[in-house]
Amino acid sequence: MLTDQKQMRCGGCGHDTFKVFTADRTVRIVVECQGCKSTSYIEPVPSKLTIEWGEGEGCITVF
Ligand SMILES: [Zn+2]
Repeated sequence: MLTDQKQMRCGGCGHDTFKVFTADRTVRIVVECQGCKSTSYIEPVPSKLTIEWGEGEGCITVF
């Protein structure tokens, strides 16, 4: 049981029971509220490399 997590609810009806489906097999998950049957999509955003200044005067860059 997850006791240290915030429980999510439907933004429309406030119900807290959902069914989970694969929307696009490997990309998105769709969640259906069991109260009002509205759906929400859960999709991960691909990570992106960022370069920040470290010690010294130079920062790696693309020429
Ligand atoms: Zn709902």
